[in-house]
Amino acid sequence: MIDRAIPLLYIGAAASFILALKWLSTVTTARRGVVVGAAGMALAVAGTLMKPEIESYRWIAVAFVVGTAIGIPMALMPMTAVPQRTALSHAFGALAAALVGTAEFYLHAPAIDRFTMGALVLEVLLGFLTFTASLMAFGKLQEILPTRPITWRGQNILNFAILGVAVASGAYLVARPDAIRLFPVLGGLALVFGVMLIIPIGGADMPTVISLLNSYAGLAAAAMGFVLDNKLLIIAGALDGSSGLILSVIMCRAMNRSFTNVLFGAFGQVQATTGAGEEQRAVRSATPEEAAGVLQAASRVIVVPGYGMAVAQAQHKVRELYDALTKAGIDVRFAIHPVAGRMPGHMNVLLAEANIPYDRLVEMEEVNSDFPQADVALVIGANDVTNPAARHDTNSPIYGMPILDVDKARTVMVIKRSMSPGFAGIDNELYYLDRTLMVFGDAKAVVGNLVKEFAGGT
Ligand code: NDP
Repeated sequence: MIDRAIPLLYIGAAASFILALKWLSTVTTARRGVVVGAAGMALAVAGTLMKPEIESYRWIAVAFVVGTAIGIPMALMPMTAVPQRTALSHAFGALAAALVGTAEFYLHAPAIDRFTMGALVLEVLLGFLTFTASLMAFGKLQEILPTRPITWRGQNILNFAILGVAVASGAYLVARPDAIRLFPVLGGLALVFGVMLIIPIGGADMPTVISLLNSYAGLAAAAMGFVLDNKLLIIAGALDGSSGLILSVIMCRAMNRSFTNVLFGAFGQVQATTGAGEEQRAVRSATPEEAAGVLQAASRVIVVPGYGMAVAQAQHKVRELYDALTKAGIDVRFAIHPVAGRMPGHMNVLLAEANIPYDRLVEMEEVNSDFPQADVALVIGANDVTNPAARHDTNSPIYGMPILDVDKARTVMVIKRSMSPGFAGIDNELYYLDRTLMVFGDAKAVVGNLVKEFAGGT
């Protein structure tokens, strides 16, 4: 009976994971995707707990309580902290894979066949390096560690040497499983390599790195499936590994960067902010009342949300502004940059939370040709994703990253609190254009005032 139930539960889990991925790929079905994915994981856990090899549930119950105690507060983190949270969950998943591999090694070595040893080496290598790399990524995103890339001469050679020795140790273990003393060398070097991998990468590249680490954690889990002869782990790990890799490729394309450039390019290293002693350039600022006046004269407005909208939790006020403008007959659309905010899809999630109709959200490639016809581009807490330097300044650290062409709109209005730079730490020349009006203040308060002033003037 149990023999038959476990494969059925696993098939149900595998089907749920595949459906979850499919549904997660569009905004309208994403919620269903999350529910089905979680249900699939519950089936997988249930199937595993029914395994006859389990002798006692005591330690499993302890792990369940500890995991729940850690997981619930993590789930309650604010949405702006989702990248950090994702990094932490990769760290835990990868550590679990590496520890299972370590336990299997010490339980069975040297009586491990070559294929299993190969999978085990991969599992431990990827598991441990993903663990420390994810913790480093967490530290950079949480700004506990410096977000800027830290580089030195010969760094890449040193990193490749560490990885090379780790891989060579793994290969030797596959050939000679009795070389038990080499195993801690493999694990230790993988842990060190994870740290070294992230040190030279700037915070602005963390979304791509996290997605890549997701892929590594998935591959470690798939390798663990081969070691434990667990087909569901192989399927789930392969799905995780491939979807993480595809997402990284999509994000690299969105930023017009190659993998090697992300991993070894030390993006964001150049400090281009206006420093002390540099000439202060003049900007034109406007009050919400003046800004509302400009909006009243507009017939086409493109709103460009960014990280600042998320920090201010201004999405509901933005919805009120959308309602007011639409009621006045103004065409309002939202331009979505693929890396606006701090996680892929961040802006979509916030705008959906405020019930802004999906069909008003337009992706970057589609909306860019519309900016020249827009009367107003209203930038709400976005910075790097609108910086024209990315198009023409070969010295800019964000040169080559596709941006939203807001500077081509007839009038640009930027809501932010100060002249502080965005995530890449560089000045934005958009703010100094003649057609740009800066409306300084917290996004929620300013948009709230805009709504009032707009309604008062119509
Ligand atoms: P940026 O981080 O470039 O800029 C955000 C701006 O918001 C800042 O200049 C800040 O200016 C302003 N701001 C902050 N708080 C408020 C507030 N309460 N009210 C009003 N404004 C506020 O954001 P973008 O969305 O333009 O770009 C995203 C950046 O983050 C890119 O560099 C991207 O590569 C990177 N990144 C993206 C991730 C993703 O997956 N989407 C993940 C990690 C990084 P001020 O302080 O003056 O108010």
